[in-house]
Amino acid sequence: MKPAIQPDWLICVRKFLNSNNHMDRIDFSGKRVIIRVDFNVPLNSEKEITDDTRMRKAMPTIQVVLDGGGSIILISHLGRPQQKRQEDGLINRDRFSLSPLVEPLAELTGAKVFFARDCGGPSSKKLAASLQSGQILLLENTRFHEEEEEGDEDFAAALAKLGSVYINDAFGTAHRAHASTTLIANFFEPEDKMFGLLMEAELENAERILHRSKKPLVAILGGAKVSDKIGLLSKLLQLADSVVIGGAMAFTFIKSQGGQIGSSLVENDKLDMAREIMSQADKLNVKIFLPTDVVIADSFSENAAVRTVPIDQIPDEWMGLDIGPDSIQIFTEAINTANTILWNGPMGVFEMEAFAMGTLSIAKTVAERTGSGAYSFVGGGDSVAAINQSGLAEEISFISTGGGAMLEFLEGKVLPGVKAIAGS
Ligand code: AMP
Repeated sequence: MKPAIQPDWLICVRKFLNSNNHMDRIDFSGKRVIIRVDFNVPLNSEKEITDDTRMRKAMPTIQVVLDGGGSIILISHLGRPQQKRQEDGLINRDRFSLSPLVEPLAELTGAKVFFARDCGGPSSKKLAASLQSGQILLLENTRFHEEEEEGDEDFAAALAKLGSVYINDAFGTAHRAHASTTLIANFFEPEDKMFGLLMEAELENAERILHRSKKPLVAILGGAKVSDKIGLLSKLLQLADSVVIGGAMAFTFIKSQGGQIGSSLVENDKLDMAREIMSQADKLNVKIFLPTDVVIADSFSENAAVRTVPIDQIPDEWMGLDIGPDSIQIFTEAINTANTILWNGPMGVFEMEAFAMGTLSIAKTVAERTGSGAYSFVGGGDSVAAINQSGLAEEISFISTGGGAMLEFLEGKVLPGVKAIAGS
């Protein structure tokens, strides 16, 4: 019998999601509503947004408030301006400013958008005070202020004073105990703070995987490092019926079993851990599927010479960069037993066409299985990129926007941004 995983904190999250504390309960008319969003979008050297997915994902929440007659104060970070200070020690305000988002935001929402050059200072106070229903005020990058990442109370209080309702819709930063994601919530009564629609969808779907998944649950893990996913792997030993392991992660497992992996990516300090996971899986009756064959290359390049060999017989100087056709077949059969599928991490270096076949084939299998009635959840930046690349995004049940936050939530860790609203 596997131990039930339901730490108190997850029960709290469930209770909160079941409560009536949702956006549809609030009359937004005439209210100034603070929404913490994740507008950490990529900008090119011309300050143009190269992918506005994060902005579009926040639109349903923004639209509900605008349609309800409220005005909105949007708070977000962009990049890591504190860590990437200029040579003179100053913050690069030009590179990390949120001002290039004003026009695209006006286009997406159809609303008038103002921009404040500070966060809770004179500029934002003045503009917030004159904000009319249906208008938006976007504040400058919260991370221009050291107080944001330090979790400073006074900074959080100044932000909180700008509005009378606080909505957190930034799931991607929910694992950070920052002023605008966590502390700010302390300044609102329980009925005046809630999750946005994106945050709710993320929590609903992840919680479904943890507690209400229809068995068999097949997890697919890939990507570069075992070490990034140890927490999730351990949790999966309690949750899943089968775990499929591809990507560079697989080589640590293959080497731990005595396989020859050439110069493939490996974490030599995790070999014992890989053996331990295999033996735990055996005890808990969880099937682990490792690749049996692999596409190898003589250099890490699109134009490298390539061959397909058994995964434990990779010649010296060659590296495995994708799973081979036999592995695709075995993984496909495993995935086709699932009623629930969780996928995190690509099967190979899918960014290069020569090594994308494994990841794209698995994406197709996951989509087809979903079409036959399974529930599929894809999380983690690279697997989401792979799903988008394959054009199959519409055929997946849920695609998570939160990389690190989602991994931590699935591992059972407390997310400060969620706890600040859902309690503990
Ligand atoms: P992660 O962020 O841990 O999910 O890792 C994603 C990255 O892993 C992607 O950029 C892939 O190119 C890379 N990756 C996947 N398989 C391999 C491999 N066999 N060798 C090197 N890198 C890989």
